[in-house]
Amino acid sequence: MINFNVPPYTGRELEYIKQAVENQKICGDGPFTKKCSEWIEQQTGTKKCLLTPSCTHATELAAFLAGIQEGDEVIMPAFTFVSTANAFVLRGAKAVFVDIRPDTMNIDEKKIEAAITPRTKAIAPVHYAGVGCEMDEIMAIARKHKLFVIEDAAQGIMASYKGQALGAIGDFGCFSFHETKNLSMGEGGALLIQDEKYIEEAEIIREKGTNRSKFYRGQIDKYTWVNYGSSYLPSDMNAAYLWAQLELAEEITQARLARWEQYNTLLQPLKDRGILELPTIPEGCVHNAHMYYAKAKDIEERTRLLDFLKENGVWSVFHYIPLHTAPAGEKFGVFYGEDVYTTKESERLFRLPMYYSLKESDVDYIADKVKEFYHV
Ligand SMILES: *Cc1c(COP(=O)(O)O)cnc(C)c1O
Repeated sequence: MINFNVPPYTGRELEYIKQAVENQKICGDGPFTKKCSEWIEQQTGTKKCLLTPSCTHATELAAFLAGIQEGDEVIMPAFTFVSTANAFVLRGAKAVFVDIRPDTMNIDEKKIEAAITPRTKAIAPVHYAGVGCEMDEIMAIARKHKLFVIEDAAQGIMASYKGQALGAIGDFGCFSFHETKNLSMGEGGALLIQDEKYIEEAEIIREKGTNRSKFYRGQIDKYTWVNYGSSYLPSDMNAAYLWAQLELAEEITQARLARWEQYNTLLQPLKDRGILELPTIPEGCVHNAHMYYAKAKDIEERTRLLDFLKENGVWSVFHYIPLHTAPAGEKFGVFYGEDVYTTKESERLFRLPMYYSLKESDVDYIADKVKEFYHV
């Protein structure tokens, strides 16, 4: 069986976890957390990176910093993971879904402005598959209407839009280091902050509402409870795993890109015959091969294809059930405008296996099986 996902592993993870244990510093913000945060700041050009236990938590922290409150509205695509909406819904906001573009499956930037009301507080674009949204237009709309931009860059590490790292373009950016993402720490994430004025508040909320971060830096001589907060720190053992990945981030990304290009070349004949739709990478976007997806004719054909692949030992999956059609989405959200593409395209999309240790021969086999299904 060719798995759909295998967590990335480079070889030094256990050595670094052992070091973390020997450092006798296994709680949050230890030496590995520091190294990882500084690396991400350098790589993305962001002002501040705070590691979190997940991308979900990073987005919750961003929702606090943006001051999202009961009755506010946040604009986002419905074709996304639940966390994009949950972080704002938890603060009492309503998720306002707008349609996606069929070429990238990203939010359609042209449909955002019409969805803005006096209650709108933020836009949360999702960089699907590590391919950047049209951030120039999104940032211009946000500036004009004084809205926050919180990027769900869960899939976006090592990818860029017009030379800027995904996650470091809006006010706040959120990365995921879940085991299904390009670089991992098991469960984990990071919040990227572009404006210094939010750093202190972010550190306080992340440290249970205390100013312990300042205390550790020696800036104050005792720490105390200064604001509401929670605990958004991952253990340094998890950061040790991530450090082994960051050291080889370029190599991991290149290996994934090679497999991505291989799929794309091998499946091209199916595209030429109008059988499958393959991914589009707009000019100005450098992606990270987070996933290889394609689109079949319709949901019925997709179901048969995935069954055929499974019978042949290939684990291929689909996602997402559009959020506005899910029970919680009906309760906490509303779709603004017409759902032209969100549902239709989501029902055609399937993902092929993609991970760091995926072999060239695996991709050859998988592409052959897809072709066999279509008699090509
Ligand atoms: C993976 C993912 C998340 C959630 O990441 P966690 O680290 O598991 O919280 C959120 N949004 C998108 C688009 C994702 O792909």
